[in-house]
Amino acid sequence: MKSYYSNIYSFNKRTLKKTVNYLSKGKVVGLPTETVYGLAGNAYSRIAVQKIYKMKKRPKKNPLIIHYYNANSIKEDVIINKNFVKLYKKFCPGPLTFILKKNKKSKVVSTASAKLTTIAVRFPNHKIVRSILKNSKFPLAMPSANISKRLSPVNALDVFEDFGNKILIINGGKSKIGIESTVIDLTGKPKILRPGVLDSKDLKKILKIRLIKKSKSIRSPGTLGKHYSPGIPIFLNKNPKNDNHAHIVFGNKAKRKKNIFNLSKNSNLNEAASNLYKILRNIKNKGYKKIYVSKIPNKGPGIAINDRLQRAAN
Ligand code: AMP
Ligand code: MG
Repeated sequence: MKSYYSNIYSFNKRTLKKTVNYLSKGKVVGLPTETVYGLAGNAYSRIAVQKIYKMKKRPKKNPLIIHYYNANSIKEDVIINKNFVKLYKKFCPGPLTFILKKNKKSKVVSTASAKLTTIAVRFPNHKIVRSILKNSKFPLAMPSANISKRLSPVNALDVFEDFGNKILIINGGKSKIGIESTVIDLTGKPKILRPGVLDSKDLKKILKIRLIKKSKSIRSPGTLGKHYSPGIPIFLNKNPKNDNHAHIVFGNKAKRKKNIFNLSKNSNLNEAASNLYKILRNIKNKGYKKIYVSKIPNKGPGIAINDRLQRAAN
């Protein structure tokens, strides 16, 4: 069934077939995942990968995450190791991305991983994208479905805001997690390159791992500089002087006012993460010129929230 926006489709057997057909022809499509919506293309197709970079205006040196159905399907493309197996068993499919060494036989086009000798792989946990991956003969290169530096999309309509009717979009409702995956480098001593909602305490139960604080290294080029931005100034750990500015707060003690946007009235950091981009987009669309953010607890998913806010405020 077509929705009001003629390129946004609900998911069924017919649109599954259509999507897989589009992807196999090198077209890119907008797909829901549990983290954020993705701009997907065949990772074995030079043309598809080129389209992704061009449409997103993404710098060529920022590599893409390659999405697979399961661990069996990655063996030709990357070299797996013990740490990978441990984390995979515990957390996959899920919001966790692994940096692994590229296999010499890999069919992933070199431009998808910015010509690095490593590949980022993920196994998304969303019914729709899993069904598409299961029915495709190739993995999907899939960065977030937004123009570079702008806010990540968590709804089909957010994807429409950036790409209009240039692409087919599958509507899978609101992305449950609402924030990008945790990126872990497993090519040497395990390192978290980008925090996500997975609590590093839970990761540390499985293996020794550390969070790279301000990595200047180019190991994860996309984690540098300004990102995830609503395009208006953001001031962190500050309250606004008047009610003309948007004020993002967290927790049950916050006041209720028109300009106050609560990430989670229940003081739940997972809920706060899932609301972050929705609230930033809402504030931008309401025409506010400045955003003030009260302190958000820096633990568990709060680490990822603060990471994204800091980058947005950069
Ligand atoms: P995005 O898909 O835009 O949410 O971002 C993907 C993230 O994964 C970026 O921070 C990239 O820099 C990072 N990434 C992707 N591939 C690699 C790789 N081979 N090595 C290190 N980081 C990577
Ligand atoms: Mg992104």
